[in-house]
Amino acid sequence: MQRTLFIMACICFAACGAAAASGMKVGIGRAVITPDTQPVWLAGYAARTVPATGMLHHIWAKALVIEDGEGQRAVIITTDVLGLTRELTTTVCAELKAKHGLARQDIFFNASHTHSGPVVWPSLSVCCAFTPQELQHVVAQNRMLSERMMMAVDHAVATLAPAEISLGFGTAGFAINRRKRDAAPVDHTVPVLRVSAPDGTLRAILFNYACHCTTLQGNNLLINGDYAGFAMLELERAHPGAAALFVQGCAGDQGPEPRGTVAHAAAYGKALAEAVEHVLTQEMKSVEGALRTAFTETNLAFRPVGLDVFRAELTGNDRFRQRRAERILYAYNVGSPTTDLPYPVQALRIGKTATFIFLSGEVVVDYALRIKRDYSGENLLVAGYCNEVQSYIPSLRVLQEGGYEADDSMIYYGQPGPFTDAVEVSVLDAVATVCRQIGLTPASRGH
Ligand SMILES: [Zn+2]
Repeated sequence: MQRTLFIMACICFAACGAAAASGMKVGIGRAVITPDTQPVWLAGYAARTVPATGMLHHIWAKALVIEDGEGQRAVIITTDVLGLTRELTTTVCAELKAKHGLARQDIFFNASHTHSGPVVWPSLSVCCAFTPQELQHVVAQNRMLSERMMMAVDHAVATLAPAEISLGFGTAGFAINRRKRDAAPVDHTVPVLRVSAPDGTLRAILFNYACHCTTLQGNNLLINGDYAGFAMLELERAHPGAAALFVQGCAGDQGPEPRGTVAHAAAYGKALAEAVEHVLTQEMKSVEGALRTAFTETNLAFRPVGLDVFRAELTGNDRFRQRRAERILYAYNVGSPTTDLPYPVQALRIGKTATFIFLSGEVVVDYALRIKRDYSGENLLVAGYCNEVQSYIPSLRVLQEGGYEADDSMIYYGQPGPFTDAVEVSVLDAVATVCRQIGLTPASRGH
């Protein structure tokens, strides 16, 4: 009798152990990041000369913490801002390591790239001419942003609970290639990650799309999340109690058309929410298993530009070129010339079903299409605007064609000039590195 009990206990222990080993947990947190102090200077359009006059809806930081059966965690933090900076992500990562033991590679940031959100200093500082007091104010607002991101993660960790995760793919057609060249690629895929409680209650929807959040233009002075903000509101209204998290894709050359009005932004938000809803009604792939994360940093070299060019810009009429030249010459004079851009690349794999590639900067769509082709056997979400947004990241094709994403945008980001032709290979090599680390084999990769 005693022996039978012992065996039963062993079987129970083994069965419980197996359930715990495959059991996924998810926690979700949200925090408003609409600045609560005035004035709010909006980021994204160099032509704006006055601060925001109000808001259409709140903007948010949202966090999704996923934990596998072994207790390994990853957190995805989405934000309704133009782009985060290295200063902000470093601060948040240090805090999350101290508080929750999260390593750098386990923390994934994304910015929706809304052009109706507050300035995130010092991103695009060439476009701003703040007085010292105004700058102090902006820095204080940024501090609030980092605190709210941490609050969202705290809440997500506190609400970790058993969850069912599934993945599906839909499409939405409103993004166009704004360069309008002959070969004008787009990526209309809408990956959707669904999180529900074991009883089926929907808890979170994470979705991705590649399109600039520039439906509203420089004449808009109302804080809002552009079409992505409207899409999240639409989904959260339709599913009370669930959080909707938008992850921006490789939208460097992707934009909405036509645009310019709140009605346009609301309509695109509705279209994207409908695409997500459609995925939720379809059969989705179950996502479970071990979490694997990887983070690497490469350097993207700039083409050398003679100092004479910047000395000439310094005395020219273009105030943006003047400010860029001041920075470049200052860096040179203090012995640390800007020759390249540190570039983080990150990856997350959940079991063998879902893989997220997180690229920094304003990545053009060629990268998403290429990575999806290289790893065609995988269920991929490829995001741009992750971690920090420090410049556009053109592909070799876009670089050779020239134009705004290859060249002129560098002025506003305070960068010295276009990247060298090695830019695409450097990014793809870094992607291959993180993919190897998460156990991903390329289906057809080769330069
Ligand atoms: Zn942009």
